[in-house]
Amino acid sequence: MSSTSEDAVSSHYRLRLPGPTPVPAEVQQAIAGTVVNHRGPEFHAMFADCQRRLKPIFGTQNGILIYAGSGTGVMEAALANILSPGDAVLIVIHGQFGERFREIATGMGAHVDTIEVAWGEAPDPALVEAKLKQRDYRAVLVTHNESSTGAVADLAAIGEVVRRTPALLVVDAVSGLAGIELRQDEWGLDIVVSASQKALMCPPGMGLVSVSEKAWAAIDRASSVPRFYWDFRKAKAALKDEESTFTPPVSLIAGLRAALRLIDAEGLPHVLARHARLGAAMRAGGAALGLPVFTKAARLSNSAAGLSNTVSVFTVPEGLDGGAIVRHLYKEHQTVIAGARNRLSGRVIRFGTMGHVSEADILADLHYLELTLRALGRAPKPGAGVAAASASLGQP
Ligand SMILES: *Cc1c(COP(=O)(O)O)cnc(C)c1O
Repeated sequence: MSSTSEDAVSSHYRLRLPGPTPVPAEVQQAIAGTVVNHRGPEFHAMFADCQRRLKPIFGTQNGILIYAGSGTGVMEAALANILSPGDAVLIVIHGQFGERFREIATGMGAHVDTIEVAWGEAPDPALVEAKLKQRDYRAVLVTHNESSTGAVADLAAIGEVVRRTPALLVVDAVSGLAGIELRQDEWGLDIVVSASQKALMCPPGMGLVSVSEKAWAAIDRASSVPRFYWDFRKAKAALKDEESTFTPPVSLIAGLRAALRLIDAEGLPHVLARHARLGAAMRAGGAALGLPVFTKAARLSNSAAGLSNTVSVFTVPEGLDGGAIVRHLYKEHQTVIAGARNRLSGRVIRFGTMGHVSEADILADLHYLELTLRALGRAPKPGAGVAAASASLGQP
């Protein structure tokens, strides 16, 4: 069947979710290129280039395992490679994705202890330290950037505590990597997992994993959770040949290389600084339109922890429904943002500020949000959101 005009997405379509995120033209073009032999020289060169460029983004010397799969796939894989039924794990839960870790670990028969943090706040590393004194854990699981709440965990401080124990620190950095500082080796993070469709500016479909020496030692002792495709030892062996064990998503890896080249051309520190500027502008603009920032975590000085720069989460004012805002923005302004699919449903809205985003995107978001609020019966001061964001962007 040939495609019809109904299949085409409007050229005004604005993907402003906290993932998937907009894919730059360079990445789209790379993905459309010739599919090459996944055991041949063209692939080896492409894969090696991805390795070289990914390492600084993870802040590691480890090779990066690249899987066809989503972020949840590599979250599950990380646990399958280190856990046996009955192992004690400590899960720091500060939102929906920490709950997902709990479901996975529980399903594997682990003995699960949790630190439950009020949604919107960042975890207190001292609580992790206290738990680790009471019991030996196989692993501590933490979400780097909680996309459901906009709070960022202080991984440097948590890593400092966990590295003094035999426990492995497993980090879900799906929505943080490449948008918020991450230094795996320096901070003592043992397994870091991420995915392609957030700040890495690629379509969905790839899961990325980086494993420390400490974690490899544990993985080599073998867990008793069954795994085959997801056996990290197989992927590690293939890395030596610049390959993956099974057929990799060749076209997506071509796209990843193009995205990593864009990151390197801008310079990683500049990429992170852009996320910080745009995140702050978005929060200022939303607040000026009468939507308070949901996240309560304070920005800690000298640290990337606290308020997220990759997702802005706003509280929906009394009397309005978050779903109505989301629907109106899409229908009238082709602007796709997220509500919540959890206990915050209807009460918050979320804008992605990660990956391929610019000042213009943020200002347009705020303009359309203002029009939407007015259409829904609110009366924000004309231009208030854009003005507050501009003022924030103008700050050094
Ligand atoms: C998006 C996201 C995931 C899930 O990734 P999928 O690719 O949808 O499986 C996991 N953790 C966080 C923090 C995320 O933002």
